[in-house]
Amino acid sequence: MDLTRTAFYLDGRWVTPAATDTIPVENPATEQLLGTVPAGTTGDVDRAVAAARTAFDSWAATDPADRAAALDRLHAALAARTDEIARTVALELGTPLKVATRIQAGLPLAVLRSFVELASEPPASQVIGNSLVVREPVGVVGAITPWNYPLHQVVAKLAPALATGCTVVLKPSELTPLVAYLLFDAIDEAGLPPGVVNLVTGTGPVVGEAIAAHPDVDLVSFTGSTTTGRRISHLAADRIARVALELGGKSANVILDDADLATAVKVGVGNAFLNSGQTCTAWTRMLVHRSRYDDALALAARAADGYRLGDPFDAATRLGPLVSGTQQQRVREHVTRGLADGARLVSGGPDAAVPDRGHFVAPTVLADVDPDSPLAQEEIFGPVLAVIPFDDDDHAVTIANNSRYGLAGAVWSGDDNRALAVARRMRTGAVDINGAPFNPLAPFGGYKQSGIGRELGTFGREEFLQTKAIQR
Ligand code: NAD
Repeated sequence: MDLTRTAFYLDGRWVTPAATDTIPVENPATEQLLGTVPAGTTGDVDRAVAAARTAFDSWAATDPADRAAALDRLHAALAARTDEIARTVALELGTPLKVATRIQAGLPLAVLRSFVELASEPPASQVIGNSLVVREPVGVVGAITPWNYPLHQVVAKLAPALATGCTVVLKPSELTPLVAYLLFDAIDEAGLPPGVVNLVTGTGPVVGEAIAAHPDVDLVSFTGSTTTGRRISHLAADRIARVALELGGKSANVILDDADLATAVKVGVGNAFLNSGQTCTAWTRMLVHRSRYDDALALAARAADGYRLGDPFDAATRLGPLVSGTQQQRVREHVTRGLADGARLVSGGPDAAVPDRGHFVAPTVLADVDPDSPLAQEEIFGPVLAVIPFDDDDHAVTIANNSRYGLAGAVWSGDDNRALAVARRMRTGAVDINGAPFNPLAPFGGYKQSGIGRELGTFGREEFLQTKAIQR
């Protein structure tokens, strides 16, 4: 199977670049080549930004109902590709097909749908004294995205950008660029005006930096690691451009002494291992009241041992590979060092059996993890759960907040008010109480080094708007 793509999407059409450099895309479950995509240059970024700049005035002035109709057509074109999207993400990332269908294909469709609604209800102008305060689209958006939810992270930027009247240049992750091509096939079919959305594939240091530094990009909307977010902030600061950053996490799952322990541990392990632990919001630190610590460890070990590793296309598989050999090695090294630092292995580990081929790491549970150690502080981005005991609610909050990150979190308790009190004290952008479901309309984003700004729903839309006061 050759999934090679040879073009960029610029100014409303597929354009084959002059340069012939390409980037290989690997299937991480088989280590076989899936195909290649073009490696863009700064010249390609210049062309894409020029197209987006030219398209901006007219798209910004388009009636919101017409923009909503365009998003609706895009939704239909994308929905028609659901199976192909799920299969492509299963191939290039290794997400088990069932999960890929539900989340990697399903979530972007839900988010896109929400912005069809929001596009037709633009934020109202306000009168403040003698001022008319109007909201306007911010301009050209440079969107740079990671590999772990490769379509969702694109749609979470593209949908609000288009809804508000912005135009977009996208650079998807070079590790998983193929699903973005399916999105642009859908964009082409939906008939969006030329230049409104543009695609340039390539590496971070070349294409990503060219977007972040480009004088005609008004907002750099980035999802990825905190290290790259810092670099992008520096580049954008040189020309005082706006940035929106969705970065890493090390979220705490706080299980109080009165929690339904079996459910809390089962759901907590499932959350930590979702997408092979390659989820920015993963609850990778499980904090358990000391009175229930041993029981929680036994339950976590049983849950982890039940995860079947293997072929993402096998219906029995619950855990796929990690995205790359580099990531696999990094995760194993973290666990090895953690064990040397005094953590206790409860399940899995760096030497546990995994399939011969593919970048697999066994689901791993570690007990007695020092809250200050790298295992509890670093974003490992693999199926590795650190379990830490606490003595009372104050102690739990102190450990939960002992992190440079603050993206997500959870609290489990039989007492809603107690859970809410703990949730309010956690310095993090989201907290789920007793396994409450994900809400695609709620603001999504981080405290501290987990980011700046929010995505999704009306809060996410704010990132793409400017405010103007007209005095009369
Ligand atoms: P990454 O930072 O390595 O890469 C993300 C994107 O940035 C890629 O497209 C990459 O090519 C590009 N890039 C790399 N170097 C660049 C540079 N110097 N200038 C401009 N662009 C550059 O991250 P990753 O490994 O692809 O993704 C994993 C990370 O993303 C994790 O830290 C994870 O927590 C984070 N993440 C955060 C969220 C969130 O919403 N907060 C969601 C998913 C993933």
